[in-house]
Amino acid sequence: MNTTWSPLNYKPGEPAPEAPILPPTPPPSSSPSMEPKNDLRPVVIGGKGSYLHIEDGREILDGCGGAAVACIGYGVPEVVDVVMAQSLKLPYISSSFFDSHIRKELSNWLLETSGGHFTKTYITCSGSEAMEGAMKLAHEYFVWIGQPQRVNYISRDESYHGITLGALSLGGHIARRAPFKPLLAPNVHRIPACNPYRQQLPGETDADFVARKAAELEHAFLALGPSTVAAFVAEPVVGAALGCAPAVPGYFAAVKAVCERHGALLIFDEVMCGMGRTGSLHAWEQEGVRPDIQAVGKGLAGGYQPVSAILASGRVVAAMEARGAAFTHGHTYQDHPVGCAAALKVQRIVQEGGLLANVRARGRCLEKLLRGRLRNHPHVGDIRGRGLFWGIEFVRDRASKTPFDPALLVSYRLHKAALNPPYNLALYYGQGCAGNGAGDHVMIMPAYNITREIAEAIVDRFVAVVDKVFDELA
Ligand code: PLP
Repeated sequence: MNTTWSPLNYKPGEPAPEAPILPPTPPPSSSPSMEPKNDLRPVVIGGKGSYLHIEDGREILDGCGGAAVACIGYGVPEVVDVVMAQSLKLPYISSSFFDSHIRKELSNWLLETSGGHFTKTYITCSGSEAMEGAMKLAHEYFVWIGQPQRVNYISRDESYHGITLGALSLGGHIARRAPFKPLLAPNVHRIPACNPYRQQLPGETDADFVARKAAELEHAFLALGPSTVAAFVAEPVVGAALGCAPAVPGYFAAVKAVCERHGALLIFDEVMCGMGRTGSLHAWEQEGVRPDIQAVGKGLAGGYQPVSAILASGRVVAAMEARGAAFTHGHTYQDHPVGCAAALKVQRIVQEGGLLANVRARGRCLEKLLRGRLRNHPHVGDIRGRGLFWGIEFVRDRASKTPFDPALLVSYRLHKAALNPPYNLALYYGQGCAGNGAGDHVMIMPAYNITREIAEAIVDRFVAVVDKVFDELA
């Protein structure tokens, strides 16, 4: 059953249809509460560099930075020092009444490194909060400019934008949405993802494919009524839901043009793919397209504090300032001084250590190793990614790209086998990349400062795990 929402079958007021969840529900790796029952997780007692120390004495090589978070590795004393110093000096202020120097410093750093494209930041704690805020900011922008009827959002299938209800409504992650469908916002409409591996037709040029994808967005605008759409929301390189999938060249320029034609905003969710993960500070730098609003998280503070941010462009901020308005938003822990201090220090380490260059160099090395070792594997369908953000999609049959039966939990088996001796390797895993809840992928997202030896160790262990799991399944 093809459950991709289509503007052609859309009836105003109806939410997009979804596939029934295929039993058993695959466990998203970033959320322990959704793990299968009786799944015992190793207890971590410490970490240094790219290694996690386990209470049973093992050292696990972190091939995925947790959930793409630990971008400078564990146990970096300089970050711990600033966290402690800031905690002593000023652990908390209410951002409703006060401001702090450390928030200003982080904010200035984020604005300056965007070349002045963003002119305001809101420092939040999680990616979900940042995406909720981004969604709200887009609507309030239209309230400020006298277009309050813009209440619809267009997002994409096989996407993930967070776990809170607004962000979950934006995302197309079937398994994570399934139990909460009745609670999700009806004003989010999804179009197909940009997934060249599964969607680009034989012989279809990138330009023709892009034109087809832009037409899908155009149709969605027309079906909804273009003047009712607040924003199109996308991850420039899709993370958890699709497995590190970049769009084809020209895609984002084309969809941005559609948004501009209809006066809607473009929101980028760079919570996973941003802050250097793909080799440039912002993933959009490689697309030549700037968003009106952006969310970042994960690598922003590298896990030393829970920090995310909403970045607002000059267009949005100018509208707010022209009316003397303020964003009707705020969390108790917004602009948290310790979070700001950790994020600023991590970002300086990334910048001063030339780590983005290392992401690009080690990324090329990782790609070469992965392609060299796995390109011809009978169950490897696609190897995709950018920088240190690589996904491997597994299929039952390469020629037809047929996914495995989801009940086999192939990606979970790979993750679980990798964690165990003798491999001792952490890999992020997911299901759903083939659509309708099917399709298995594994993601490799190590720290930005890995050496060539660590890249080789990750691939050596990963290939051994792949061999073992598929031998067992044969
Ligand atoms: N957006 C994307 C692209 C993500 O990958 C995630 C988390 O994985 C989120 C938003 C939500 O972030 P958090 O889990 O910090 O709330």
